[in-house]
Amino acid sequence: MANRSPAIKHTKLFINNEWIEAESGRTFQTIDPATENVIANISEADKADVDKAVSAALKAFARDAPWRTMDASSRALLMNKLADLIERDINHIASLESLDNGKTFANAVLDVQGSVAVIRHYAGWCDKIHGNTIPADGNHFSLTRKEPVGVVGQIIPWNYPLAMLSWKWGPALAAGCTIVLKPAEQTPLTALYVASLVQEAGFPAGVINVLPGYGPTAGAAIAEHPDINKVAFTGSTEVGHLIMAAAAKTNLKRVSLELGGKSPLVIFDDFDVNEAADIAHAALFDNHGQSCCAGSRTYVQAGIYDAFVARAKELAIQRKVGDPFGSDVVQGPQIDKDQLDKITALVESGKQQGATVQTGGARHGNVGFFFQPTVFSNVTDDMRIAKEEIFGPVQSIFKFNTLEEVIKRANNTTYGLAAGVLTNDINKALTFAKAVQAGSVWINCYDGITPQTPFGGYKKSGIGRELGEDGLHDYLEVKTITIKTPTKN
Ligand code: NAP
Ligand code: MG
Repeated sequence: MANRSPAIKHTKLFINNEWIEAESGRTFQTIDPATENVIANISEADKADVDKAVSAALKAFARDAPWRTMDASSRALLMNKLADLIERDINHIASLESLDNGKTFANAVLDVQGSVAVIRHYAGWCDKIHGNTIPADGNHFSLTRKEPVGVVGQIIPWNYPLAMLSWKWGPALAAGCTIVLKPAEQTPLTALYVASLVQEAGFPAGVINVLPGYGPTAGAAIAEHPDINKVAFTGSTEVGHLIMAAAAKTNLKRVSLELGGKSPLVIFDDFDVNEAADIAHAALFDNHGQSCCAGSRTYVQAGIYDAFVARAKELAIQRKVGDPFGSDVVQGPQIDKDQLDKITALVESGKQQGATVQTGGARHGNVGFFFQPTVFSNVTDDMRIAKEEIFGPVQSIFKFNTLEEVIKRANNTTYGLAAGVLTNDINKALTFAKAVQAGSVWINCYDGITPQTPFGGYKKSGIGRELGEDGLHDYLEVKTITIKTPTKN
């Protein structure tokens, strides 16, 4: 099962189905956030390595290359083989993820299972991607073909390292693209291990390339590369701006962005208060609050506000923080010192601006990047903790009175990733669901993300959608072919 010291077999760059050192010879350390110990030294890609990987991916995308000439159904077989291998090695991969990221082993197992499901979902799409025949005016017969966009760059964050890889690889491979992926510098281990499974599954050389490295060097080289036709990015809104600017300045590559959020979870007083507290607790504290769609603004109707706050506090106090491999632990460390400092600063601002700390509010221990599960009540919309992404285990509880009021307040943000509403009144739920500006709305649940359902943001939470059929669109060009016909019909 869980292994706190899993073998680290792969630390080099994966380019053209080979393991190679970075051109510069440089390496960087990946750290265990629970102990602050170095886990391994990883080859550090930069522009020269990105160029090499893009060449390999371009070659793999050539018209006569095996990846382009194989049947779509054979592509599906390769993807299913990869999913099977990931499933075979689930304990090893989850151990690597837990060690590198700090999420609990149990959660890491769920992430691996979810990633397998996403790859299998998209394997099913390979031979079902088709265009239309179109009743065009005049003596014409027109049809459309959906073609892969080409070489795609993928830049992913550290909060769900393997899951984000699967959300990016699934649609790209189903569409028939070739890939250059940069994992986050904090969490390269699972992407490298899964690259070894790409090789074992028998993918042709160059179809998938994995380049650990830093954002401003390797990441920027991907965003700027003239031979990359699309870049898919998940991470901060700040870097999202940079990616789009780089695409605009270079080859107008297609850009899809999955960025931050400040998602409202709205709880009406007809809903059971204990169940509401459980849902809201999971919506915020899962993955230590490091989730783009975390329910980070908990709006509670006045009638149950005090009872809700009391229960939310109890749940946070019960939360066991510690080593992510500990069997009863539900919260490990935050990813790094930068994130710990950011969370600490925002929590201090909440205290200074007058929110009430119900529990927590400080670092947990002094080794590892742990933060106490924290609950703020009496949060108002003007506070920094109400507006900025905290990305940590900090629940902020607001009071509201009416549906119209809470719709306005829920939408009063530059973000628009997700929202939730808990009520037994279907009319209230649907009115809220239609009015809220968010890419996903969950009614009487939260985080209902499945491989089949599209996910992405309104406003500054992003551009484009991932998962489901919608997730394929950004990886496809539409080609119209029109043929002259002798008659009109
Ligand atoms: P980030 O910098 O946006 O990192 C995401 C990815 O982008 C990483 O692979 C990163 O590389 C890369 N990157 C950074 N600068 C780049 C550049 N100039 N060009 C191309 N790629 C670049 O996020 P972060 O600094 O790790 O976290 C900061 C905040 O972002 C968090 O506090 C949170 O609010 C938000 N965030 C959101 C998500 C999400 O799921 N939407 C995920 C993570 C973080 P490096 O590894 O070198 O950073
Ligand atoms: Mg960063």
